[in-house]
Amino acid sequence: MMRRFLRQPGGRLASIFAVILCAMSAVMGSYVYSACQKASADYTTLVSDIVLAQQATPQLRAALEEGSRQPSSEHIKYIDYFISLSKQHLNNIQSSIERHRYLISDVEYLHNHFSELSNRLSDLTQQSQQAQQRPELIDPLQRVAMEVGGAQAWLYNQLLEEVRDTSVQQRLVMQRLSIAVSALLVLMVSAAITLCLAVIHLHRQRNVMHQLMLTDELTGLYNRRHLVNVASAALTQALRDRAPLSLLLLDIDHFKQINDTYGHPTGDKVLRQISKQLRELSRPSDTLARIGGEEFCLLMPNTATHDALQAADRLRREIEVNAMSDMELHANPTISIGVTTCQSGSLTFEQLYSFADKALYQAKALGRNRVESLLPPTEPSPYSELQAYGHTLIRESSDS
Ligand code: GH3
Ligand code: MG
Ligand code: MG
Repeated sequence: MMRRFLRQPGGRLASIFAVILCAMSAVMGSYVYSACQKASADYTTLVSDIVLAQQATPQLRAALEEGSRQPSSEHIKYIDYFISLSKQHLNNIQSSIERHRYLISDVEYLHNHFSELSNRLSDLTQQSQQAQQRPELIDPLQRVAMEVGGAQAWLYNQLLEEVRDTSVQQRLVMQRLSIAVSALLVLMVSAAITLCLAVIHLHRQRNVMHQLMLTDELTGLYNRRHLVNVASAALTQALRDRAPLSLLLLDIDHFKQINDTYGHPTGDKVLRQISKQLRELSRPSDTLARIGGEEFCLLMPNTATHDALQAADRLRREIEVNAMSDMELHANPTISIGVTTCQSGSLTFEQLYSFADKALYQAKALGRNRVESLLPPTEPSPYSELQAYGHTLIRESSDS
């Protein structure tokens, strides 16, 4: 089933489309997943930077308190170390914020505080260096350092709040995006499945249409169009193989009376029943078609006249005896059959048909429920009229 589907041009197209959709969905899914991961990982780094920077503030404060109790150049160096550490943290945090475009707008109002803190830390560095030479500057240095420490603590608290808010918002956005992408993925897969189903449906419809074009709706037998096609090919083959090909033309006798007596629906039923029986009685290699109201044609490749006549008479008898066993008709319907054979000459289907038709006409004229044959000349001449000869087997139902 799948292989047959793939062999169709539409099926191949649908499969390629489905594969592309699935690949796109997979790429999109993995992209969103990695984006989610990346966003949360970046915020974690930023938050840890801020927490580290916050930890430096109490350490600086502790160093200042220690320095105020025992002012010495060693403590000033210690204070200097924490000031430079705070500057480093500040730089890290600032460059980290620049990498987060969602965060930049939210912390815009803190921009001045960052610059001010940076300037004050630079001033503090200078002051601590001066205090190393001039111990009397230690006191003012400690005061200023305490103020800077306070400002730094406030700034980082503020920043941490903003980062938390923004990260919560971002996570929400990512969750919604994941849901949207999942929905899109489901939609895409559904679209691909729908497309495949549509192609399968169209393919089936095309087969049904094709079948309808070749068959007769009432009886399910082949129609005239198909018979003509098959007959043309069979005639060509017969000519090449120098093999005989017979054609039977079958017509239900007095069918109009059946319609008139029992009604059209019963007439249809009779047609279906006779068709079924003819199909069961004919060989699979033969082609049976309904070519008119109550007219049928049986094309028999590789069949000589003698065999065709025997087969025709068998059909005639079977229909007469068994056709309507389950229907309450006053009398079983009968059929008349005209037989012809293309011996080895090059005949068209129309020419062959005209011989069978003449034979059928003869069967009707001679009383119906019988088989008549009319053979074309063995050497058909393009200049002469059709020379009919060879009228052979006649069976009347009373004889059989
Ligand atoms: P004959 O023995 O000379 O063949 O006589 P006949 O009555 O069979 O032939 P005729 O051509 O006079 O009538 C054929 C009838 O078949 C006429 C038409 O209404 C009927 N018929 C054609 N197609 C259908 C069909 O599909 N269903 C039914 N119920 N009747 C049909
Ligand atoms: Mg008839
Ligand atoms: Mg007829």
